[in-house]
Amino acid sequence: MKKGKKLYEGKAKIIFSTNEKNLVIQHFKDDATAFNNKKKMKIDGKGILNNRISEHILNYLGQVGIKNHLVKRINMREQLIKFVEIIPIEFIVRNIATGSLTKRLDIEDGTILENPLIEYCYKKDELGDPLISKEHIFAFNWASKKEIEKIDKYLLRMNDFMIGMFRGIGIKLVDFKVEFGRYKNNGKKEVILADEISPDTCRLWDISSDKKLDKDRFRNNLGNVMEAYQDVARRLGILHEESNIRTIKFPKPRSVKLKKNK
Ligand code: UDP
Repeated sequence: MKKGKKLYEGKAKIIFSTNEKNLVIQHFKDDATAFNNKKKMKIDGKGILNNRISEHILNYLGQVGIKNHLVKRINMREQLIKFVEIIPIEFIVRNIATGSLTKRLDIEDGTILENPLIEYCYKKDELGDPLISKEHIFAFNWASKKEIEKIDKYLLRMNDFMIGMFRGIGIKLVDFKVEFGRYKNNGKKEVILADEISPDTCRLWDISSDKKLDKDRFRNNLGNVMEAYQDVARRLGILHEESNIRTIKFPKPRSVKLKKNK
């Protein structure tokens, strides 16, 4: 597997081509941004942790039937993924009201939602990713009815699975954001889960103390961002109890042999 040229650079990740048409490399950076890019910082080791955490969660989701782009992690910062055409929508699932929802509708922070709430936002930085309805999605052909039906089902299944997974390690899954893409395989297009699932894209609160273990520590200057991400990784069993990401030795990047169209 050969790494090719940079195809795209986003706020937290870079996508590189490979010598396989349908596969690309996703590289996790240490950059953190918030408030529509107005707040920026480098957080040493964040990319390494997000790579590991996202790999862990996507592998599990794959096992429970959520098809996703992950092929395998290649090294400490990179994963081999299926090349998809990203649907320009951020899919948000909420279990507890916080963040933009509380501000937008004057809902008390921490209100437990009786049922998971799905929200759709149009992925457009210049507009600040505005909230949209399903009708907007269909009116502007951002996704088809069939695609959104499948994605909605996936979102609820993912939410169920992840609530349980995090509850088992003493964490409340407050909300999360995911993205989906169209993967072209043998001439057919199939919608699969893409991007990442990590403390950058989820809100995770400690069950007993409500301590925030996610990007809100960076957004709201709460400090100890890396410690919180490490705590999540440790609880997931990815890091050992006494490990510190700065002292961990990761294996050297290695090339991977792939079966075709896997
Ligand atoms: N989120 C994200 N990327 C974004 C916006 C939101 O990953 O560009 C995640 C965020 O971390 C949270 C969930 O989506 O887990 C809901 O975020 P909210 O709409 O409350 O956004 P915010 O308050 O951050 O503007």
